[in-house]
Amino acid sequence: MRLDRFLAETAPLTRSQAKRVLAQGEVTIDGEVVKQAATQVGGHARVAWRGEVLALVGLRYVMLHKPTGVECTARRGLYPRAVDLIDLPKAERLQAVGRLDVDTTGLVLLTDDGQWSHRVTAPRRRCPKTYRASLARPLEGGALARAIADFHEGILLDGETSPTRPAELEPLSSREVRLTIHEGRYHQVRRMFAAIGNHVEALHRESIGELALDTALAPGEWRELSAEETALF
Ligand code: URA
Repeated sequence: MRLDRFLAETAPLTRSQAKRVLAQGEVTIDGEVVKQAATQVGGHARVAWRGEVLALVGLRYVMLHKPTGVECTARRGLYPRAVDLIDLPKAERLQAVGRLDVDTTGLVLLTDDGQWSHRVTAPRRRCPKTYRASLARPLEGGALARAIADFHEGILLDGETSPTRPAELEPLSSREVRLTIHEGRYHQVRRMFAAIGNHVEALHRESIGELALDTALAPGEWRELSAEETALF
């Protein structure tokens, strides 16, 4: 890898800032000042900037307990971004693996491994996502039985032409349900309940595939995935 790229990967520098600090003689390789941006950095080279040895970071895999009022977007907008909560070097390179609405809480995965992200989200893999929803109106008796059957069969959402994939609905109390879906359409859970005349007041994602949100994480907290968890996808 070229030295300027290595610096941009490992230090809080853009590529052009890296060229500047190189020209200023602030970078050493194995103790010798190197100023040429095109210098190739070998696997065992000790590159230091202002005396601090730099190391490439590997691919990162993170689970976040997303609080409300946080967006899963890459661009800065009205709300803080999920990535802003992750205190890792170069955290802005992490991308949310699928999105939650700004007022949905729960499990969000972030990574800089595009292939892994694709494995989690690729529609043909039908990775299950499980949500707990609080409903505005009780869902009981015949209406509950109908909703279980309709969601299992697939329902047509407003403005769409193909029905939802079979989903599993489980009542937890009269106004609390667990729903597992196997796709990720826009506002899907909220729209599914709207389609049966109800309204989701609060929504929380519990799990993605076999990976459940770590209950030790409070809203806003995160941790890196273990190798076993990463290998689930
Ligand atoms: N479905 C929704 O409606 N919102 C989410 O955030 C996730 C799934």
